[in-house]
Amino acid sequence: MKSSENLLVFAECNKEGIHPVAFELLAKGKELCEKSGSALHCLVLGNQDTEILDLQELNIRGADEVFYIKDDCFTWAEECLYKENIVPFIRERNPHTVLFGATNFGRSLAPRVAAALQTGLTADCTNLTMDEDGRLIQIRPAFSNNILAHIKTLSYPQIATIRYKEFQEAERDEAREAKLTVLEAYRKAYEGATVLESLREQEFDITKAEVVVSGGRGIKRKEDLQMLQELAELLGGELGVSRALVDGGMISSAHQIGYSGNRVKPKVYIACGISGAPQHIAGMKDADLIIAINKDPSAPIFKFADYGYVGNLYEVIPQMISGIKNG
Ligand code: FAD
Repeated sequence: MKSSENLLVFAECNKEGIHPVAFELLAKGKELCEKSGSALHCLVLGNQDTEILDLQELNIRGADEVFYIKDDCFTWAEECLYKENIVPFIRERNPHTVLFGATNFGRSLAPRVAAALQTGLTADCTNLTMDEDGRLIQIRPAFSNNILAHIKTLSYPQIATIRYKEFQEAERDEAREAKLTVLEAYRKAYEGATVLESLREQEFDITKAEVVVSGGRGIKRKEDLQMLQELAELLGGELGVSRALVDGGMISSAHQIGYSGNRVKPKVYIACGISGAPQHIAGMKDADLIIAINKDPSAPIFKFADYGYVGNLYEVIPQMISGIKNG
């Protein structure tokens, strides 16, 4: 049986504001709440003033009530401390379902919350629906994208992480009443860890990039990634990679595109020295325009590319860079 009549969306926020995946979760949450007759709640943790964070936007996008746990201890996104605050909140309010964005942070936080609550978690969902008993059906690709698994969690709350850019953002309705409750932090320190410094790399989020220049095993040395980084910057984009380079220790997994990495939907995706394994394609196939550079004309990546260049990336990338620089 459902434990309560509310569904909770966790809205991740940082210095740049609320992560837009929250607006997508609100759209899906609203749909599920209409079916089940539940209220749609939204939880935010942060250290900024409510106006700066524009929490009212969450009401405008469909949340019936927004709960904000505000404290300076949330200056850094530290999963264990977040978990220590989210778990008691969930215990008090008993949502039947909790949705997190499958961002780097959400993927790290949600399993900690689920484990503490001794309930199940379905990670990286691409859709959600409900059966006739009001139980959540969590849909996600499985077996390297060969099937779409439909998963039901037997315990409550039902917890899922949902990939970014799967749903349209919830529409804005300025007439909606703002209902915001600011709460004290339950725990202000986590004994297991202290954050000393937050580096740019940890905040890096490739999922929002409009242009992604990605390198694969065709890149032979770590320092050669610099030329792809330069091309990405000239195009106003970010550097992505295949898992081969992450496994090879060349770069952090925050840059990895694919099934077990990040899913991106940029306007332009340039794959350099990437063969086009299904697990990589799963992360970039929805790009508006795909350009592939590979020295092997039979590389599978060309089947997915709008434009392909058969050649050595060590020749063509410097030419592209100097072409852009020289206008
Ligand atoms: P390769 O397959 O080795 O391809 C290298 C390509 O570079 C070749 O096509 C070659 O022709 C070309 N090349 C070489 N030199 C040059 C040159 N000088 N100029 C131009 N082209 C050149 N992979 C991911 O990427 N993301 C994931 O999230 C992911 N998740 C996985 C999850 C699971 C459960 C498993 C089993 C695998 C996963 N993989 C993932 C790994 C995936 O199966 C492939 O092994 C990986 O994508 C291959 O990376 P690649 O294309 O860079 O390397």
